[in-house]
Amino acid sequence: MESIAIGSRSIRLVQGDITRVHADAIVNAANSGLLGGGGVDGAIHRAGGGAILEECRAIVAQIGSLPPGEAVITCGGRLSARHVIHTVGPVWHGGRAGEDAMLASAYRESLRVAEAHELATIAFPSISTGAFGYPVREAARVALDAVAVFLGTEARSVREVTFVLYDRHTFGTYADALDEMAASGA
Ligand code: ADP
Repeated sequence: MESIAIGSRSIRLVQGDITRVHADAIVNAANSGLLGGGGVDGAIHRAGGGAILEECRAIVAQIGSLPPGEAVITCGGRLSARHVIHTVGPVWHGGRAGEDAMLASAYRESLRVAEAHELATIAFPSISTGAFGYPVREAARVALDAVAVFLGTEARSVREVTFVLYDRHTFGTYADALDEMAASGA
């Protein structure tokens, strides 16, 4: 399954490069230092240019570092997306260190920041499943559940959430998890 409706809102899955997506905001799987890194973080800063990094520096000057599970917003620089919402997922330590709650928080807080800016279309990568080592199957369940709950309860301006999954395996795993969620009646 590649999309699901939650009332008048929707979750979609696509395979691709999030730096090329048109949306009100794309979400960056950042690290707490907010000054760029590898994976999707590096790709977003490379494609978006120095304006994003400049705003990240100003945020760091104000708050120090961004704790896992929280989110902040900057401009989108040269990206097609208007904004970048930066969040930090958990590093996987085996699953008993509260990783699921922290990952759900990263999605939820990103969406709360989107609401605070009255944004409608948001794109997420698969947070934590690269360098941070979160198993994709488990992460997909947590991610889809967190977004579905948000869309069914808190959402006002946000109407479409797209997961932009970079590789075929991650895309397929999210599609399976969406099937399971639909089958369970969520
Ligand atoms: P984390 O540190 O949160 O694990 P990573 O960037 O290492 O973040 O990986 C998160 C996911 O983002 C992985 O599935 C990775 O393949 C994917 N990814 C890397 N580059 C891109 C991109 N340009 N667009 C979308 N997803 C990407």
